[in-house]
Amino acid sequence: MFRHVRTKPLVVLWAAMAAAWGIAVGSQGSDEPPAITANEAIRRLRDGNTRYVLGKSIHPDSGAARRRATSEHGQHPFATVLGCSDSRVPVELLFDQGIGDLFVVRVAGNVCNLDEAGSIEYGTDHLGTPLLVVLGHTQCGAVTAVATGAELHGNIAPLAGSIRPAVAKAQETHPELRGADLIPAAIEANVWQAIEDLLRRSPLVSSRVREEKLKIVGAIYDLESGRVKWLGEHPRQKSLLGDRSAPSQEGSPKKPVQPGKHPAAPQHGES
Ligand SMILES: [Zn+2]
Repeated sequence: MFRHVRTKPLVVLWAAMAAAWGIAVGSQGSDEPPAITANEAIRRLRDGNTRYVLGKSIHPDSGAARRRATSEHGQHPFATVLGCSDSRVPVELLFDQGIGDLFVVRVAGNVCNLDEAGSIEYGTDHLGTPLLVVLGHTQCGAVTAVATGAELHGNIAPLAGSIRPAVAKAQETHPELRGADLIPAAIEANVWQAIEDLLRRSPLVSSRVREEKLKIVGAIYDLESGRVKWLGEHPRQKSLLGDRSAPSQEGSPKKPVQPGKHPAAPQHGES
């Protein structure tokens, strides 16, 4: 056995990854059709968020039986979510989902660099989730820090570099807004930016979207109300996918900014 293992390092690596990520080797692959459609996945998330907002969460599949089942039979999540690390954005809780339901990637500012793109490919291509939600949130400290020109230290500075194009686009789209007033538009632009970065970095994800095996939608979680606002697909998705017939339009879509949601300056601990 040991000799066999040593002669097949890639198999070992794959098996180790599979074990670590809680899947059964060979049990799932990109060719298998998703168990549910993207729209059904959105409906489940919408319903779960409504329960959460109303204080009627049922915390499905969160106990020992589900733990055992997913351990023995692998994971079959129905959606991949790219969200912010902010401790006030607990993805499974706010969608009222259980163990094994969501493949979640969390990083400050819900940015999409190479590691995030790789993780998303794992969720959408290998595990075959039909839906990817890029979930921004109100009062995002990472976006706020960039929008307000806060001084950044250590490795936060390069991370903020991924957010800067979104803030610039928001400013271009809404030249009348400054400082804190710009933040809601910047948060929305940052959701679109993550989708753009993903499609640019990942031919795998792009082709799954083209083949209609994957739907990518943006959404914004309201920290105060708990409600998720659904933004739909990227307005320039077709051109981002290289469809030459699609209208080319630079910058973020012109949309009215939600009134009354102007968060304060960055506070310690926000991300
Ligand atoms: Zn955040």
